[in-house]
This record gives sequence, C-alpha cells and structure tokens, in this order.
Amino acid sequence: MHDETPNTSSAASKHGRPLPEEGGRGDGRPLLAVADLQVSYGGINAVKGISFTVEQGEMVCLIGANGAGKTSTLKALARMLPARGDIHYAGRYIDAVPGHALVGMGLALVPEGRGVFARLSVAENLAMGAYHRNDGEIAADLEHVFELLPRLRERQTQFAGTLSGGEQQMLAIGRALMGRPRLLLLDEPSMGLAPLMVQKVFEVIRTIAARGVTILLVEQNARLALEVCNRGYVMESGRIILADTAANLAADARVRVAYLGE
Ligand code: ATP
Repeated sequence: MHDETPNTSSAASKHGRPLPEEGGRGDGRPLLAVADLQVSYGGINAVKGISFTVEQGEMVCLIGANGAGKTSTLKALARMLPARGDIHYAGRYIDAVPGHALVGMGLALVPEGRGVFARLSVAENLAMGAYHRNDGEIAADLEHVFELLPRLRERQTQFAGTLSGGEQQMLAIGRALMGRPRLLLLDEPSMGLAPLMVQKVFEVIRTIAARGVTILLVEQNARLALEVCNRGYVMESGRIILADTAANLAADARVRVAYLGE
C-alpha cells in the first residue's frame, strides 16, 4: 500500500490515528486529499495513480466515459476495494481504516445502483444508515430525512424493492444521511432515471450541499454534474486528464466535444 519506511509526520497518522497538529477542521488541509491512488483488478489497472482534493463545503465531480475508473475511485475511497496510494480524510490517513469504521467518521457512499435492501422496509433501510450511532438524535434525523424526502415517509412501511428507481435513489441518499455524513460520495445518482426524476434527485443533492455536507459526485451526465458542482476532474482510462472549476470545464472545447455532445 505505502512505502512502509517510517518517515516524517505521516508515520504517526497511518491507521486512522489523528496527528496531534491535525483536526480535520480549520487545519488548512482539504477535507479529502488523495495522492497517487491506484486500483487494479488482477492485471487490469483501472485507476493509474490519480491525485485530487475536495475542500470542506465543496461539491466536486468526477466525470468521464464508461470504464474511466470513476466507480473504482469511489469504492477505493470507501475502502470497499484494495488500493495503493494515500487517502487523507478529515485530518488522518485512512488507507488502513476499514470501510465500516469510515461511516462513523462521516464518510458515506451512495453506491451505483443504489444498493437498497429490497426485502427490508423503507424505515428499516433508513435505520441501517444509523446502525453505528447510539446518540439520542436518530429520531430527529429521521424526521429531517422525511422532510427532505417526503415520499419516503409515505412509503416507510413498504418493502424497498417495491419502490420506483427514483424512490430507491432517494432512499439510498436518505440512508446515507442517517449516518450524519460530512463527506458524501455519490456514484451515478442519475443512472437509469427519467429526466424529471433526475431533476428531483439533483435538487435534493443541492439541498444537502447547501446544508453543509461536502459532496464528491461521480456522473456520466457531465452536463448536469458541471451545472451543480464547484469544481470537477475529468477521468480518462484511469487517469485525471483535466482539473478545473466546473464553469471552465463546461467551456473547455475538449469537454464540450467528448462529454457534452457538442
Ligand atoms: P462506469 O460508469 O461504467 O461504472 P467507471 O468510470 O465508473 O465506469 P469503473 O467501473 O471504475 O469505471 O471501471 C474501470 C475499469 O475497471 C474498466 O476497465 C472496468 O472494466 C474495470 N473493472 C471494473 N470493475 C471490475 C471488476 N470487478 N473486475 C475486473 N475489472 C473491473
């Protein structure tokens, strides 16, 4: 995973231990800083040493064609895949933190294809999002989720598998919110949804961002992603080939031709 040679400050911060001088808030470092991330499936190098950052409060997108390595990047960040490179999140290196512990650190992934539990009710799915919590504010947070996503309140006793695709996407987002995320990783939230539902899902995402949750969004719908995000990275064949503000990327001739269909 790393060069294991103990060196400078990083040796103390591996395995999720915070460095004394770091707090993840107001420490001058981005909320997420990824350096030389590599993901391989056997002989296939899906992510070939990418580096990028997400600042607290930003909404950043990773765009690119099918197979560019976007999903692999998010899964590596959520520790669902083995990866090489450094992932620094909220003041600590999380390369060796198990995925389940990241939820408690406020890092949540809404996976491609939603990943809701079809044979559990909507309410049970939402409760799963708070499984690691034992504070007294779970009921209040459930109420906030229902206010943001009223269809879930109406359908809370239904099996999740009976919901429409858009409702399942809302449920997956609601479940992640029940974990009180600080950084929300969203993988293709528009996938397979009708245009009207895509608009609704993105309105919800904007609202979540406006409430202070930092967002890293993976989207094949580059137009939409660049409309809602502050900054973006373009991935091609496992590498980041462009990095800029969303406005500059949307105006870039290469992006317009390759990803905006112009
Ligand atoms: P998509 O939008 O289709 O999900 P993506 O940009 O998210 O595309 P990835 O899913 O990360 O791309 O895939 C990157 C590369 O890794 C592709 O070449 C893909 O075929 C390969 N890949 C992804 N998952 C696996 C796997 N489980 N086993 C082998 N190869 C894989």
